[in-house]
Amino acid sequence: MDSIDTVVRLLASNCTGVRRPIAGYVLITHMSARPHVVIVGGGFAGLNAARALRRADVDITVVDRHNHHVFQPLLYQVATAALSPGDIASPIRWILRRQRNVRVLLATVTAVEAAGKAIVLDDGTRLPFDHLILAPGAAHSYFGKDDWAAHAPGLKTLDDALELRRRMLMAFEKAERESDSARRRELLTFVLIGGGPTGVELAGALAEIARHTLREEFDNIDPESSRIILIEAGPSILPSFPESLRASARRALRRLGVEVWEQAKVTALERHRLAVGDTHLEAHTIIWAAGVAGSPLGASLGVPVDRVGRVIVEEDLSVPGHPDIYVVGDLAGFTHQGGRQLPGVAQVAKQQGTHASRNLVRRIGQRSTTAFRYRDPGNMATVGRAHAVADFGWARVSGFTGWLLWIFVHIMFLVGFRSRLSVLLQWAASYMTYQRSVRLITRR
Ligand SMILES: Cc1cc2nc3c(=O)[nH]c(=O)nc-3n(C[C@H](O)[C@H](O)[C@H](O)COP(=O)(O)OP(=O)(O)OC[C@H]3O[C@@H](n4cnc5c(N)ncnc54)[C@H](O)[C@@H]3O)c2cc1C
Repeated sequence: MDSIDTVVRLLASNCTGVRRPIAGYVLITHMSARPHVVIVGGGFAGLNAARALRRADVDITVVDRHNHHVFQPLLYQVATAALSPGDIASPIRWILRRQRNVRVLLATVTAVEAAGKAIVLDDGTRLPFDHLILAPGAAHSYFGKDDWAAHAPGLKTLDDALELRRRMLMAFEKAERESDSARRRELLTFVLIGGGPTGVELAGALAEIARHTLREEFDNIDPESSRIILIEAGPSILPSFPESLRASARRALRRLGVEVWEQAKVTALERHRLAVGDTHLEAHTIIWAAGVAGSPLGASLGVPVDRVGRVIVEEDLSVPGHPDIYVVGDLAGFTHQGGRQLPGVAQVAKQQGTHASRNLVRRIGQRSTTAFRYRDPGNMATVGRAHAVADFGWARVSGFTGWLLWIFVHIMFLVGFRSRLSVLLQWAASYMTYQRSVRLITRR
């Protein structure tokens, strides 16, 4: 392996953008004397890292297993039929089209060879790098109960969102045709596991679909009679928010008819049923919004990871023992000033992506790197059509004002003018009519 790696590195430093087979490997070489920066992941962290290098004298390769960047905070709106996939996702090539020093590769990275300074792609190709920014995000964690995944899918990608939309809309359609009342009750029971922002947002949106959007559209069922249960194992929903905002969100959910079960731990889960302690529930639709774990790529680095698989990074975001490899975003386990672990949120990912790129440029210029400092702009979650909670540290807002702020912030951060306009118009229409424009059942 060592000799192959040496050949690979030698070729990489001299040659051209061609693929060469070497002893069972294919190598993509890179054609310039400028340092080659590889960025894995075109999410919030990876894109910000690439953009921060737009004026740097480097060649950048962005590798992602999808051809698009997804604005994950609005995935729940695709899952609940309010927005289309195209409203919240854009091709990575299009986003970076004006940046001359970037090329984009559609490929899944299967491993990082930290010592050999190369990443391995799904077809066995090795792509050498001088500097690596690893930003593949997180995956769902079922806390060791991986068989639960088939019965309680989570929400991370556009495919997940379309699958949840299909399951949810199909439940109403099946209930309409069902003559057995117990089975109908099961079909009209929706359980969300995990009371963080995603669980709360999904529960609120589902309640509005059942109570308003579908109210007069069925003959044999009353969608309003649907049970929507939000289950949180910890003492409270929205644990990262102050108590006053949690209470406001709890009240808003209950007004929408959502049952909020706190300190309720799911102990068993199988197809269409689950147990919460001694209570057994039959529910056709069960959605997982409870746990995340770092991408398995973190473990392939061979450096220490925390209990959820995040790579424990240095204060300049590099990997211990590998100053040319940075890990950023949801995969980075970063302990903030004051000993607090930074949460897996978009702002952390964006700021870390930018900071890692600046440190990389410093290293190329043989200057010392600087420690990452997070500037926390605040925390937001929406509950249904016209209620949100927002905590900016210096101010706390809830209700309709919070919701207007939530709209403003999310529109500002969406990529692309077309998306912004389209989303704003659809939100305005759905606010006035309670309708959801994308109630389509596909992929049956
Ligand atoms: C449903 C949901 C709602 C959320 N709501 C909010 C919110 O309201 N506010 C907030 O601040 N944060 C929210 N978050 C969290 C936020 O989206 C993440 O913290 C952020 O996306 C992390 O950015 P990242 O770049 O690290 O990872 P991601 O944005 O997940 O990007 C990772 C990229 O890497 C690619 N990738 C992964 N593995 C590989 C591989 N092996 N090979 C090649 N490419 C790979 C993926 O395709 C993806 O494009 C939410 C997340 C979810 C899932």
